[in-house]
Amino acid sequence: MAVNAGSSSLKFQLLEMPTEKLITSGIVERIGMSKSIFSIKVNGEKIESISDIPNHGEAVNILLNQLIEHDIIASYEEIAGVGHRVVHGGDRISKSVVIDDEMIQYLEEIIDLAPLHLGPNLIGIKAFKEILPNVKHIGVFDTAFHQTMPEEAFLYAVPYDWYSHYKVRKYGFHGTSHKFITQRFAEIENKKIEDVNIVIAHIGNGASICAVKNGQSIDTSMGFTPLEGIPMGTRSGNIDPAVVEYMAKIKNKPVKEIINQLNKLSGYLGVSNLSSDSRDLVSASAKGDHQAKLAIDVQAKRIADYISSYHNYIGGAEAIIFTAGIGENAKETRKNISDRLKTFGVEIDDERNDCRGVERLISKDSSAIKLYVIPTNEEVMIARDTLSLL
Ligand code: ADP
Repeated sequence: MAVNAGSSSLKFQLLEMPTEKLITSGIVERIGMSKSIFSIKVNGEKIESISDIPNHGEAVNILLNQLIEHDIIASYEEIAGVGHRVVHGGDRISKSVVIDDEMIQYLEEIIDLAPLHLGPNLIGIKAFKEILPNVKHIGVFDTAFHQTMPEEAFLYAVPYDWYSHYKVRKYGFHGTSHKFITQRFAEIENKKIEDVNIVIAHIGNGASICAVKNGQSIDTSMGFTPLEGIPMGTRSGNIDPAVVEYMAKIKNKPVKEIINQLNKLSGYLGVSNLSSDSRDLVSASAKGDHQAKLAIDVQAKRIADYISSYHNYIGGAEAIIFTAGIGENAKETRKNISDRLKTFGVEIDDERNDCRGVERLISKDSSAIKLYVIPTNEEVMIARDTLSLL
């Protein structure tokens, strides 16, 4: 079972391994509130029930009982392992690990690195461990894949003790997705992971670019938190940090509130003043809405900047991969970005690019760097790591 626990939600997928066949998936929402929603897919059909689910422990109980009730499993014993998505592993975790008591203690020690996500992740882990005590629980970390970044890439040019004493450095996120794409690209191109040199553009609501050299992450655009890097649905990406103090003073608001606005009211939403959803911006832009077009262009410009820089840093990328909600679905945005990379001989093929949600080569045969759309699948990656640690 692959689990992604948030503060008030719990997403799950049950996969048959090693075939990677999806057996069922679902989500519990509004945990801890009234009228919690539990939905699960049974034979392709979504079944929803509403009740008050006071905590994550109860959510796990309901979820497992529903699996039995819908004849998806006959008993809890059929679940061989549970893989938990964990947002942050600090600087000690470079691969997926079995979550024992010592690991829980370590995660509690680093909770301040990502309090909004790591706290709920831990609550989910503890709830599952209590109800399934005889099963191995595996942590799959968003930061792990990026632990191969060299010092020169992950260090900020700030007083050194910020790093040595307070762990301030670039960690990077979306690692599970970037790792999945790296493995999938190796399969498609029939090459060893060590021979993969690519730039991955994971563009969803959250978005990050990753430089993969010899199959390893050597740089990525997200940083100490997922706020750094390119503009996203509601996040600003990079800005001059001095803006924070300036706006706090002008608005007479605490720094925390300004950072909150950079996380929740910026990016697509901030620039367009319309929506954080790419679909809304693509259609408004086509109708001539200047700010909607600007929001897309501001992001596309910066994505192209990162890709150019990473192409150089890895010593020449053989391919650029588009993935996640926007990367997989928005042909207009893929075209917008690719057209900004013409200096490198990048040539997008408009006919091949006319696709959505499928795995496909979208560059011309004459393109100096291949362009691919590869749908990501973090849950399969979690299940693979879980299986290998069982
Ligand atoms: P996250 O997992 O970070 O929340 P996703 O990877 O699900 O985000 O991506 C969500 C984004 O994908 C949204 O901006 C959504 O509008 C966009 N998206 C999905 N389908 C399309 C489409 N057909 N055209 C343009 N954008 C799309």
